[in-house]
Amino acid sequence: MNTLETEQKVAKLLAKARHVIALTGAGISVPSGIPDFRSETGLWSRYDIMEYGTLHAFRADPYKVWQMFRSLAETVQSAQPNRAHLALAELEEMGIVKAVVTQNIDHLHSEAGSKVVYEFHGACDSFQCLACNRRYNRDEGESRKDLDGIPLCDCGYVLKPNIVLFGENIPEEAMKNSFREAEAADVILVVGTSAQVAPASHLPAVVASRGGAVVEMNVSHTELSHMAGYRIIGDVEETLPSLVEQVRALRRGSIGLA
Ligand SMILES: [Zn+2]
Repeated sequence: MNTLETEQKVAKLLAKARHVIALTGAGISVPSGIPDFRSETGLWSRYDIMEYGTLHAFRADPYKVWQMFRSLAETVQSAQPNRAHLALAELEEMGIVKAVVTQNIDHLHSEAGSKVVYEFHGACDSFQCLACNRRYNRDEGESRKDLDGIPLCDCGYVLKPNIVLFGENIPEEAMKNSFREAEAADVILVVGTSAQVAPASHLPAVVASRGGAVVEMNVSHTELSHMAGYRIIGDVEETLPSLVEQVRALRRGSIGLA
């Protein structure tokens, strides 16, 4: 089956579905200029994970770990949502997608207009104090930066962006909501991720175990492919808008639902 035929099949699936959710990962933000952290040009090629990426490292030397955060912030702050993010937001606007669960911390789904977004790994646009637990939004965090550009809490401790470091738990609310969505879903679009890292990896399995459809949208086949009933392989900045176009065509009645 060629890509267009698969897209048409998936468009029909979406048009008939009760509750569609999306699970997204690094691949959807690559066209926005944010390399996959684990890729050759990604964050972890420049900063050793054990030295910079763990909760332990932050507690031991928050100023050192802030070098990595600043580099990350530079990449993320200049990034704009791309056509794939916008297409998912449009599917929500059309009443088809009910929620986006993302492993990305770049906040680009919200910037694209998606309203129901669960950020499994947190987001880099708010801050928390690990000493007194006080939380600060982006503007508050920005206004509290010292001369080195590192934000400090009222209590004097260095703030941490609300992104999940290795050794930290997934935010409880995001976890609870994501699994609730997966249990309600009859279709899950898995976009830009091979969904191999737990607990996000469990979401497609939850949907499949309840008889729902797993649709993979990745640039190449992944370990997820064997589980996916539908595979749309290609640049997500092309395939997602094209899928939305197919759904629109269905709604106009220019292609039949059967
Ligand atoms: Zn504090």
